[in-house]
Amino acid sequence: MVNMLKNYVTDRDYAKFDRENAYSGEDLGVVYEDGITRFKVWAPHCTAAYLNLYTSGEGDNKVETLCMRKIERGVWYVELMHDAFGLYYTYTFEFEHNIRVETIDVYAKACGVNGDRGYIADFEALNPEGWEDTRRPVCQNPVDAVIYECNVRDFSIDGSSGLQWYNCGRFMGFTEEGGRCGSVTTCLDHLKELGVTHVQLMPVADYATVNEKKPYAGQYNWGYDPKNYMCLEGYYTSDPEDGGVRIKEFKQLVMALHKAGIGVILDVVFNHTYYTQQSAFHKTVPYYYHRLDKAGNFSNGSGCGNETASEHAMMRKFMRDAMKFWVEEYKVDGFRFDLMGLHDIETMNMLRDEMDKLDPQILMYGEGWTGGETPYPTDKLSYKWNSYSFGRIGLFNDNIRDGIKGGTFNLHETGFVNGNHHTFNTIKRGITANSRYRALQGTADDLCWAFSPAQAINYCEAHDNHTLWDKLAISASSYSADERRRMDKLAAAIVLLSQGVPFIQLGQDFLRSKPKIFRDGEQRSDTNIYDGNSYNAPDETNKIRWTEKEKNADVFRYYKALIALRRSSPLFRMRTCEEMDEKLFFHNCGGVIAWELRGADERYFIVLNPHRDTQRVRLPEGAFYRRLNEEGKPVYSKICGEQEVPAISCAVFKGL
Ligand code: CA
Repeated sequence: MVNMLKNYVTDRDYAKFDRENAYSGEDLGVVYEDGITRFKVWAPHCTAAYLNLYTSGEGDNKVETLCMRKIERGVWYVELMHDAFGLYYTYTFEFEHNIRVETIDVYAKACGVNGDRGYIADFEALNPEGWEDTRRPVCQNPVDAVIYECNVRDFSIDGSSGLQWYNCGRFMGFTEEGGRCGSVTTCLDHLKELGVTHVQLMPVADYATVNEKKPYAGQYNWGYDPKNYMCLEGYYTSDPEDGGVRIKEFKQLVMALHKAGIGVILDVVFNHTYYTQQSAFHKTVPYYYHRLDKAGNFSNGSGCGNETASEHAMMRKFMRDAMKFWVEEYKVDGFRFDLMGLHDIETMNMLRDEMDKLDPQILMYGEGWTGGETPYPTDKLSYKWNSYSFGRIGLFNDNIRDGIKGGTFNLHETGFVNGNHHTFNTIKRGITANSRYRALQGTADDLCWAFSPAQAINYCEAHDNHTLWDKLAISASSYSADERRRMDKLAAAIVLLSQGVPFIQLGQDFLRSKPKIFRDGEQRSDTNIYDGNSYNAPDETNKIRWTEKEKNADVFRYYKALIALRRSSPLFRMRTCEEMDEKLFFHNCGGVIAWELRGADERYFIVLNPHRDTQRVRLPEGAFYRRLNEEGKPVYSKICGEQEVPAISCAVFKGL
C-alpha cells in the first residue's frame, strides 16, 4: 500500500530534503509538562495526522481520536490539557491516494503488549526507591572494563539458577541476591564473584518475534529483530500488558548492577528494522529511514531485509535521541552497536561527542562489518578497516578471536590454543591490542588497525557462532578432554592478559555449550551436535545450566583469577601505544610466546605455551615468584633462571 508513496522521494536527494524538512527540536514523542501532554511527530509527507488514544495496549478500546495540526518542518502537533498517564496511543497518517496507515510512534518511549501502541508513562513515578542515588560505576578508560555478554532469559531461566520462579528469565533475575546452585553462586552473586565490570545485555529494546503474552510457550529469540528502539521488551517483564511495569523492573536491574559496581551496556540494533514496509519508520515517513539501492529497492546490508540510513538527518538524530534517552532515563553505561559497519562514520563520531557531553566514560563499540552488501560508499562507513576515522569507538577484534581458536566459519580450522602454531604473530598483535607497537613493526602489519588499545575489543567467544568449548570439541577432537580444558584456559589468559578491552560471554567461564535440539527427520553428525546460530533455538540450547559451573569450578576459578590479576595492575591496561612501547617487551624464548610488562615498581613475565608438553623458559634477570599457575593460584617462593611451563597453559611470573 505505502509502495505508492515511493514517488515522494523520487530524486532521492536526501541532503536537499533534509535541508528543507529536517527538524532539530528536542521534543518529538510525548512530552508532559505543567498539566499539559504534548504530542509531536515528524511526518513531512502526510496530508493529515491523527492521535488515537486507547485504554489498553491492544484490542477495541479507543477513547478518542484527535486531529493533529502541522506546525513546522513536517512536525504535527496536538496537546491534551491533562496528564494522560496510563493511556496508550498510536498515530494515523493520511497520504495522497486516500492511503491511511495507523502506527506506533517511532519516538514511543514506552509501549503496550507486543509493542503495537505507545504508552504514556509517568517515568518519575516509576522510579524504584533509591533510584535518584544510583550512580554509574567509575570506568576511567575503556581498557579498565571487563565486559560480560548476557542474555536476559538465558541468565536465569533454568531452575538451577536457584532464583524465585517469578524472577527467572526476566529483568528481575538480575536483582535477586543469594542465588545458589549446590555449592556455587549464580546470577547476580556470580557476576560479583567473577569480578566483571560491565554486563552487556543482548537486546532489551522491544523486538518483534516473540509473543510477549506467552513467555512459556516455547518461543525464543535473541532480539536482533528490532521493533521499537526506545521501548523495553515485554518478554522480560512480569507483566507485559502494563506499559509501566517493564520500565520499573528494568530500572531495578540497572540499580542492582550499579550497586554491585557493575555497568550496564545495551546492545543496540539500529542497523535495520525487523519489518520493512510495515515498520513504524516507513509508515510514518515512507522511503526515508532506510537505504535504497540504485533500482530504488530496499538495500539489504544487514542480511535481514533492509538497512537504515544513518546519514539521513532524522535517522542520525533518532539514534542520538534514543541513546540520550537510555542514558538519561535509565542511566546505562554504554552501547554495543550491532553491524556497526552499516552506520556512517560521521554519525558515529557525532554520537561519541554527544555521549561525551553526558558522561565521557560511556562505552561505545561495535561490529566493524555488515551482514550484506550496502550501496553506501565503503570509505564512509564504520568498517574495521576505516578504524582510524573513528578512533574513540571500539571494534570487535576478530583477528585475535580467530587467531586463538581458528576461524568461526570453518569448524575444523584451528588456532593458537588448539594446535595451529602458525598463529604466533597474530597472537602477538593481539597482545599489543592490534595497535601501533614499535617492536612489531614489519610483523603482521595488516593486523595493526586499532587507533589505541581502547579500540580493540578482545574476545574469542560471543553469542554468535559456536561457544569456545563447542568449537574445541569439534576442532580438537583428537585431544583429551583435559587438554581441551587447558586450551580453554589458555584462550582466557590471552583475552584477559592482552592489552585492549576484554570481552567474555556468559558461561564461557564454566565451559558453556549449546547442544543442538534436533527436529524430526534432522540428521546428526559429528559437527552439527552443537548449535552455532541459536538465535531462535529453544531454551534447552541457549539457557545457562548453573550445574555446569559446579562441574567446571576449576575453570571458573581460573577466569576469576585472571580478571582479578588484570584489575590489580595498570600494566595490563595500558592507555596508549606509546605506553606499550615503553613498558611491554617480547622475549625470544623458542616455541612459546613470552612477554614482559615493566612498570616503575612492578614487573610481570607472561608465557603462553601452546604445546602438548612442558616447555622450559628462562626468566629475565632478577627474582620472581609464580603469580598465576595453571590453576590460577600464586606460588609464593622465590625463583629465577629456567622455569617449567606446563603443557597448553599460561604462566604469569611477578618480579620480586
Ligand atoms: Ca516485543
